[in-house]
Amino acid sequence: MSNDGQPCQCVSARSSAITMGLDLHVNYMRMATKLARYALDHDETPVACIFVHTPTDQVLAYGMNDTNRSLSGVAHAEFMGIAQIQEKFGAQNTAIFKDVTLYVTVEPCIMCASALKQLGIQKVVFGCGNERFGGNGSILSIHRDSCTVPQNKHELIPGVLRKEAIMLLRYFYVRENERSPKPRAKANRKLDVSVFPPMNWGLYLTRSEFEEIFGASKIEYFDKSLDLSTHVDWSLIDCNQDIFFQNLKVECELFSLQVAKKPKPQTISS
Ligand SMILES: [Zn+2]
Repeated sequence: MSNDGQPCQCVSARSSAITMGLDLHVNYMRMATKLARYALDHDETPVACIFVHTPTDQVLAYGMNDTNRSLSGVAHAEFMGIAQIQEKFGAQNTAIFKDVTLYVTVEPCIMCASALKQLGIQKVVFGCGNERFGGNGSILSIHRDSCTVPQNKHELIPGVLRKEAIMLLRYFYVRENERSPKPRAKANRKLDVSVFPPMNWGLYLTRSEFEEIFGASKIEYFDKSLDLSTHVDWSLIDCNQDIFFQNLKVECELFSLQVAKKPKPQTISS
């Protein structure tokens, strides 16, 4: 604080940098959320992700849950995106992940969190927690684990568009129940669109980490387990996202043409 009672320039600069950073994260999470809606409309669990190349600020890959179509329990959204990046840069080139931020609607499971850590991802931003299998705080904190590749520690930003991520999962479970030959009584209840569980920030961040990411002005959210947003953006989760998906694919192909350079095959000189 300066002598005249006004916030000093460095504090206001820090505060505006935080706001700009968060706006960017929300924008990319909006894309991940639209993709999760697309997954829901194509009979998949609505979990999706976007991988962003931080230096160029471009989307380089995306992923959706593919477990229903592939009948593979490990076909998680993160793995689809990782495969796309490896296709672009070569499977041996893990250095690229140091320049990549993942935006995923649901906290990565333990398996995916471990893969992301081993690849050395720069940052993970997610919407809602994964209460049963979460690897970034809900069950285990793989990103802080010092047993495997301790040199790889990625930054974590939880709770971005959390309510939208929860609503999409609720849509999925209600729909599944409607299709079930014997609807389960518990799941037969009305879709809840207004009540959300408290956000337990402490599972994912320390209080000072929260303050560093979201700013001192929002510390009340941490202390009272509040969501970042009071409302749900229904336009993200109640619209058909087929056109968005087509545009997203084009965006990733453009990245391949403009930025990604596949390693040239080794030639043996005589
Ligand atoms: Zn997973």
